[in-house]
Amino acid sequence: MQYRTFPKINELQVSALGLGCMRLPVIDGDPARIDKPKADAVFEAALEAGVNYFDTAWPYHKGMSEVWLGEAVEQFSARDKLYIASKSPVWLVQEESDWEKFLDQQLKKLKTSHIDFYLMHALNRDRWNTILQKGGLEFLAKAKRDGRIKHAGFSFHDSYKVFKDIVDGWDDWEFCQIQYNYLDEEYQAGAAGLRYAEEKALGVIVMEPLRGGALANIPKAVLDIFAAYGKPRIAVEWALRHVLDRQEVVMALSGMGKMQELWENVAIASSARINSISRAERAILDKAKAWFDARMAVPCTGCGYCKPCPFGVNIPEVFGLWNRALMFDNREKARRSYKSEFAAAGGPLDCTQCGQCIPLCPQGINIPAKLRESRQFFEL
Ligand code: SF4
Ligand code: SF4
Repeated sequence: MQYRTFPKINELQVSALGLGCMRLPVIDGDPARIDKPKADAVFEAALEAGVNYFDTAWPYHKGMSEVWLGEAVEQFSARDKLYIASKSPVWLVQEESDWEKFLDQQLKKLKTSHIDFYLMHALNRDRWNTILQKGGLEFLAKAKRDGRIKHAGFSFHDSYKVFKDIVDGWDDWEFCQIQYNYLDEEYQAGAAGLRYAEEKALGVIVMEPLRGGALANIPKAVLDIFAAYGKPRIAVEWALRHVLDRQEVVMALSGMGKMQELWENVAIASSARINSISRAERAILDKAKAWFDARMAVPCTGCGYCKPCPFGVNIPEVFGLWNRALMFDNREKARRSYKSEFAAAGGPLDCTQCGQCIPLCPQGINIPAKLRESRQFFEL
């Protein structure tokens, strides 16, 4: 395994691959029923392969991921061989004492006296405001002082602008976690966020290096582009190498639920060094990205500058769903998601065509016109 360090935590060597404990094997498709023997086998094999960072969170597997991880660490006597990462469910915090309440429960579930890496979970503008208004930063500082957490960071899902505000909003952040992959160079924090984090000495953990698995199952046309490389290389390797090539990236997190996935990812993360992608490989990745980009319905980068819509339309979310449907040719799945997420509220039906968002879009998208078009696509 390859190991890297966080600029502000350089005493720790962390594996370049972390195990995300949100897609563990389950029984009868029920996320709350983790298949313990199978999940334990992945845990043990990951540990043996040198993975030393295990990432869980309050809501994963309906609260059972933390319970399972605590049991696995105890069962394999592994507490001093790994780092536990977990996250505060910011969206559930109503009053200041809630931070403590959740952390206490998490320590119990994880059967540990301390969490090595503790993150404020999935921050966006609203959740950042919750942290500021409800004493979240004071709580983190206190929990660090008394040793219940060792290192404080945040995971992130919003625009680059909000990312900067959060990074600049507290000097004691030690690391952050963002979504990044070869299709999402300009999505959310994106490549600009990587550079800004480095400027501020924040090590970056990358989540969704495979875009939730989509980049492992790519269309044949993209496989043909990769085949031009001349040497056999699976789609996952292209995606992971792209992420681990960046000097700002300390680790790629992958939600590995199967042994095969684990072995593939371990082999890649062991050899994918910083700045190791050649010009020829970069040209192939650029071509693959261009293939996907050409299929996008709308050139939305998800920057969020058009938010909030005064009528509650989730503009980037609707455009993102539409784009993914065309890029990965999964129209039926996208139409089902549309029905459950946006048909009743927050979708194109709520758009009054007021036009207020148009001048806010740096991509020059005629948002109301495109929303009308998206409705035709989703409601076919
Ligand atoms: S045009 Fe539609 S999406 Fe844009 S601000 Fe008005 S209601 Fe919202
Ligand atoms: S529609 Fe424009 S402003 Fe809104 S998220 Fe997409 S690119 Fe950004």
